[in-house]
Amino acid sequence: MSAIFDGLTPEKTILITGGASGIGRCIAEGFLRHGCRVHVCDVSEPAVNRFLSDHPNATATVADVGLAADVDSVFSDLGKRHGRLDVLVNNAGIAGPTAPVEDVTVADWERTIAVDLNAHFYATRLAVPLLKASGGGSIVNISSSAAFFGYPLRSPYTASKWALIGLTKTWAMELGPHKIRVNAICPGSVKGQRIDTVIERDAQVRGVDAESVRRVYLEQTSLEIFVDAEDIANMALFLCSDLGATISGQALGVDGHTESLSNKQ
Ligand code: NAD
Repeated sequence: MSAIFDGLTPEKTILITGGASGIGRCIAEGFLRHGCRVHVCDVSEPAVNRFLSDHPNATATVADVGLAADVDSVFSDLGKRHGRLDVLVNNAGIAGPTAPVEDVTVADWERTIAVDLNAHFYATRLAVPLLKASGGGSIVNISSSAAFFGYPLRSPYTASKWALIGLTKTWAMELGPHKIRVNAICPGSVKGQRIDTVIERDAQVRGVDAESVRRVYLEQTSLEIFVDAEDIANMALFLCSDLGATISGQALGVDGHTESLSNKQ
């Protein structure tokens, strides 16, 4: 269910990384429904083409946010197309390997950290001067309920998601005097292909069936639910709207309350 939030007006310019599909697309569509100007970047050219064909008012750059030079090109496009920025949503992320730590390759570790952590730094350092020029704004980091627990078999993912909370609090302190608010959203399991793949991989490595892993994921959540991408989008819009004007430095779970991620069968 989508909601309407105060203060998200047509001159507001929003950049969403990984915005062509999944949660990022849902967030992009929420801002578009409010009439905001939306620029997305995404590594998948087919997904970008589908997004632009469905939303001809939006703009986009095909880019790999794990590469600093690609993020530079996103901001160069953003500058040419819009010339300002009010909101940055650092959303792009990959699941990374599902493996015990001794089996995680250095390449998998480095790639996961690049996309799930370094990318947020690359985008934020370029966004801050634009947000300051706009007189303030909002940064939303999409972390995970994995930022609150140990999460066996998911070392680089978990490391990145915890690190994002530290950055959220640090940037909220640095940027608060400039009226820039910084928050993290920590989704639980979101209904869709991505969580299905995560569950299948987890089951494979543990040598159990996927249905029993799914049941454990649900049982570890107080409300015994998986959430919708729309729930994450509504929280992102709320945080960036006038309704979220007093909220900064927070890590907000949108997850039905995850109690554990031990995934013990
Ligand atoms: P998804 O895989 O459905 O979509 C991710 C989007 O990001 C895709 O369009 C993909 O092409 C893009 N992307 C991936 N790597 C990229 C890169 N290097 N550069 C630019 N774009 C890239 O995933 P999602 O479920 O929408 O996840 C979005 C965010 O939410 C991620 O940060 C993820 O860790 C987080 N999250 C998801 C879940 C879940 O259950 N799906 C749970 C907790 C947190």
